[in-house]
Amino acid sequence: MSKITDYGKMIVMKFGGTSVANFEAISRTIGIVRLRLAERPLVCVSALAGVTDLLYKIADQAWMKESENLENSLSELRGRHLSLVAALMSDGGEQYEKASLRVNELCDSLTAVARSVEALGELPDRIKASIISYGELLSSSIICHAMNHGGIPTAFLDARRMIITDETYLKGRPDSAEIARRVPAELAKAKFTADGPVQAAITQGFISATASGVETVLGRGGSDYSASLLGAAIGAERIEIWTDVDGIRSTDPRIVKDTVRIDEISYSEAAEMAFYGAKVIHPMTIAPAVEKKIPIQVLSSLDSSLPGTLIVPQAASKGPKAIAFKRNVWLLSVEDCSEEEISALLAKYRVKADIVSVKGICISAQNPDKIVLSIDFSNDLSRFIPALSEMKAISLQSGYAQISVIGSELPEDLADESADALKISPSNISWTLPRTILAEQVQTLHKRLFTYSN
Ligand code: ADP
Ligand code: ASP
Ligand code: MG
Repeated sequence: MSKITDYGKMIVMKFGGTSVANFEAISRTIGIVRLRLAERPLVCVSALAGVTDLLYKIADQAWMKESENLENSLSELRGRHLSLVAALMSDGGEQYEKASLRVNELCDSLTAVARSVEALGELPDRIKASIISYGELLSSSIICHAMNHGGIPTAFLDARRMIITDETYLKGRPDSAEIARRVPAELAKAKFTADGPVQAAITQGFISATASGVETVLGRGGSDYSASLLGAAIGAERIEIWTDVDGIRSTDPRIVKDTVRIDEISYSEAAEMAFYGAKVIHPMTIAPAVEKKIPIQVLSSLDSSLPGTLIVPQAASKGPKAIAFKRNVWLLSVEDCSEEEISALLAKYRVKADIVSVKGICISAQNPDKIVLSIDFSNDLSRFIPALSEMKAISLQSGYAQISVIGSELPEDLADESADALKISPSNISWTLPRTILAEQVQTLHKRLFTYSN
């Protein structure tokens, strides 16, 4: 049997929820994979659009003992996946039978977990992680059978045997050394070799497990991160992120009409964009690719002929690249506090503060020992704030948003006079503002920075 020794010849292709949402989307996705078979694709898929949200709802309905709603949600989930199997393999046959059986098995096992949550009235994170894992297990199983049905010999790989994390069940921290050992072994076991009959492999984004096999997940939007961890583990030639936009654009096209596509962006600019709110890629996607300098491409699954955006170690072009924003942040002011003290507490409670400054936003010159932090709403402050307020005088305000301009050689006068902008890094200037004026400010700023293209 030949071995995969030359992982540089492989690529990773990640397809997000909208790219696998229904029959049409999956048919397009399989068509795109077919174009790449010569490059030995390892395909990584998300749950069908909306399914992870439904699974969160199922977990809560079980916990709250809302039996009737729970039954409805479980049957909606099963119905949606069984209809998809029927549409994708409408002429029946072996793969259709196997896919239907697998969907029913997975839905039966989810039902059993949900019923035990309902009976016990308890929903520990460990069980919640297990429940929300079903979306990717369902989508990847169906697509694997559909690919085999369509004449692409495809191996199924279980990400829980490859993406190994610590025991933070809902936001596992990956162990890259263990992942680098596991992925090649699983590929070889699946006989996905350089010259064997298997032409593609498929696995799940988002889901993972501890070294002893307890299920974990990487956090919302984590499939991009999975793809990048897989790519790093096999030293892939390229990581492709296929999504519902034609690449990374100058800002979120849902807020501004005339955005421009970015041809090429550096690792650090792309990471900065993602950490400062651009949802197009998960913030952790870049890190695993850096060491081996693996290029990441963001591409449109709606039209595979479009060029997309290339994320590379160094980008050629200079100047502002993009505006990222966060819709909801808290402003936390802490009196008489050093940066060391606050950093230690943030790390202890795993709270991510974007702006940490003694001279940043809203700091009065008369009160230099006051630190102001901006903290995204996605953080859990339930343990951090009580602990902090026992030690310090604090004030916590909501109603704010945050804007960041990302690029190089950035102009100094970006924010309007009422805001204090802060240079977070050479490629990031950020400030906070009332949430009510966020959209208008992003639109005005976009017009100013990117008018050459309008
Ligand atoms: P997927 O399900 O494929 O992972 P996401 O919804 O997570 O897709 O990410 C794609 C979305 O990211 C786009 O539909 C777009 O609204 C949003 N987005 C935010 N900022 C940007 C940006 N700068 N460029 C492109 N898309 C962006
Ligand atoms: N399905 C997961 C989510 O909705 C992961 C992902 O789509 O990236 O968060
Ligand atoms: Mg995403």
